[in-house]
Amino acid sequence: MFENLSEKLQRSFKNLRGQGTLTEENISEALREIRLALLESDVNLDVVKQLIEQIRIKALGTQVATALSPTEQIVKIVNDELVNILGKDTARFKFSSQPPSVILMAGLQGSGKTTTSGKLAQWLKKGGHRPMLVSVDVYRPAAREQLAVVARTTGTSIYEGKLDPDTTHGTADVLRLAKEAKRDAANFGCDILIVDTAGRLGIDKELMDEMAELKKLLNPSEILFVADAMTGQDAVNSAKAFNDLLAITGAVLTKMDGDARGGAALSIRQVTGAPIKFLGTGEKPDAFEPFHPDRIVSRIMGMGDIATLLERAEEKLDRGKAENFAKKALTGEGFTLEDFREQLRQIKKMGSMKSILKMLPSVGPFAGMAQAAENVDESQFSRIENIINSMTNKERQNADIINGSRRKRIATGSGTTVQEVNNLLRQYSQMSKMFKNMGGGGGIKAQQRMMS
Ligand code: GDP
Repeated sequence: MFENLSEKLQRSFKNLRGQGTLTEENISEALREIRLALLESDVNLDVVKQLIEQIRIKALGTQVATALSPTEQIVKIVNDELVNILGKDTARFKFSSQPPSVILMAGLQGSGKTTTSGKLAQWLKKGGHRPMLVSVDVYRPAAREQLAVVARTTGTSIYEGKLDPDTTHGTADVLRLAKEAKRDAANFGCDILIVDTAGRLGIDKELMDEMAELKKLLNPSEILFVADAMTGQDAVNSAKAFNDLLAITGAVLTKMDGDARGGAALSIRQVTGAPIKFLGTGEKPDAFEPFHPDRIVSRIMGMGDIATLLERAEEKLDRGKAENFAKKALTGEGFTLEDFREQLRQIKKMGSMKSILKMLPSVGPFAGMAQAAENVDESQFSRIENIINSMTNKERQNADIINGSRRKRIATGSGTTVQEVNNLLRQYSQMSKMFKNMGGGGGIKAQQRMMS
């Protein structure tokens, strides 16, 4: 997500290594590199200037004061300043005291408004809310149909309303639909109404006037600007234009799973004053996460994001199965191919292997893992699962019986090769051996080692 910026920043810190103290000279040198790293990651120029100035002032101020090495000092200052520009705390989501609270989704066409509306509805439902969706894009029937599909896939209520297909529609219809939807939400006991609005390819007066009228009519508790992170500085500029007119309450950065350089994330809050509230990280409804500035900075600084990883594990993993696996791994007893397959499935539930590896710190014991993520072949996991699926129950319980002809049958059944089946069996056997070595009397010791 922020690999580029992260890599470049760390390179600029490396050059400070081996230097005894922070001097005006080496601070300037480091700042030059940091400046370049930020600009290359598409951070807004004004934001870069402010950041660099703050870092310079702090770095010069702490020259003598501390036992930290120069690199550590600079890393800490950059870390603190990045947290500062992103906002110290996770932004709160506002609700109106009189339900339904209205969330107005704003943004350009294609930014991800409709997808995000569905993701947001799902996220709110998880938090115990009853959201309703409505699309007031009276200009594009396809857009309204798209939201209806999103509502169906996420199991969310939707107000579809009526529009005569033979007439052209305008702002009056937009306002009518919005008003009806708010009433409908109240009647159905929905406490939140998410309003997906018409997007345009660029900012035009008509669109802006319509948004202003919607705001006046609905008195929304949140106006979320949806920005496509891939569009970099354009996203920042349109965020500014929307904010000038509507006073947005927050931003959602979508497509953070793509190769966006991340600069938009660092610029939007500084330019608009509105915090980033969520990140979109994929096309599926659950590829969505609240924006925690400190965790994002941790990722940028190469320290990974263990907090999010643990949260994801907590949410997605089956505790009973995980404990069962841990027990077998620690005692080295009864670890079958069935357990191997279950373990793969559990890991898959947490997201792609790539996304998991990328959350590990790039320093310390996990060094190199995040980089290795680039080379992970996700299809490999499905192939392994297919191989185990093609075995009989008996084979899964006792791998020793899988002889040459069985291997051939399994390869054919799973659409793989005998060599792949052999590889898998070898991996499984190595893993079992490793567990047995750890276990068999050493189990408790191994456990103690892990806990100490
Ligand atoms: P709208 O015109 O603003 O309503 O945009 P849509 O919701 O229709 O999204 C435009 C395209 O972006 C669709 O193909 C979505 O699947 C895709 N999209 C939206 N959010 C994300 C995201 O976070 N990651 C990725 N990879 N694609 C996204």
